[in-house]
Amino acid sequence: MADVLVIGGGPAGLSAALFTAKNGLGTAVFDTDETWLHKAHLFNYPGIGSIDGSTYITTLREQVDDLGVTRHQDTEVTSVSTTDDGFLVTTADDESTADYVVLATGANRDLADDLGCAFTDEDVIDVDVTMETSVEDAYATGAMARAEEWQAVISAGDGAAAALNILTKERGEHFHDFDVPADAEELFGSLVDAENQ
Ligand SMILES: Cc1cc2nc3c(=O)[nH]c(=O)nc-3n(C[C@H](O)[C@H](O)[C@H](O)COP(=O)(O)OP(=O)(O)OC[C@H]3O[C@@H](n4cnc5c(N)ncnc54)[C@H](O)[C@@H]3O)c2cc1C
Repeated sequence: MADVLVIGGGPAGLSAALFTAKNGLGTAVFDTDETWLHKAHLFNYPGIGSIDGSTYITTLREQVDDLGVTRHQDTEVTSVSTTDDGFLVTTADDESTADYVVLATGANRDLADDLGCAFTDEDVIDVDVTMETSVEDAYATGAMARAEEWQAVISAGDGAAAALNILTKERGEHFHDFDVPADAEELFGSLVDAENQ
């Protein structure tokens, strides 16, 4: 049983998965590969000068794969529901359960509606700053939580916010994922030294 099931593999869903998996939670992502980023070229992603949208997604997929995320690519989630102790996510071939679910299906809000998430007057999913919905332990991230004002970096931020809130609940204290240069040195060793020369 995964701890976290993420539905949607655009910047919102993959960002959530990155943070939960990096910090030890079993994480699976389901995605039908219709992210808008396949139509985009990013000149406005902070810290990145220019990147093709599909290249960005490919890199992000590699990043989550390296962190141990189980990625069900080209797999549509057909339903999501609550159980006595979490969530049940159904695809054509399988069922999965988890303690938390992160909805990240772009502007498509059907699954959130099925799950019983409250909507705002603007007909988007009602979330707080942690991206948690009215259904406890269910999060809505990215385009589905906004009426327009859609940007890749906002979706990625939403995913990170949801993941950190899940980690806060799991750890029982406020959580943030901070690394320092010494961590990079431990990981990359001589490669870091070579780059600094
Ligand atoms: C032409 C165009 C140009 C753009 N240019 C820019 C730009 O320059 N800069 C910028 O910041 N933003 C740009 N955007 C917007 C940007 O692409 C979106 O803000 C961003 O992709 C939204 O991310 P998301 O993760 O919320 O949703 P998406 O990227 O749409 O990802 C949602 C994912 O969920 C999957 N999914 C949906 N339903 C299911 C299901 N039932 N089961 C499994 N998977 C499912 C979809 O296949 C998709 O892969 C552009 C958009 C378009 C259309």
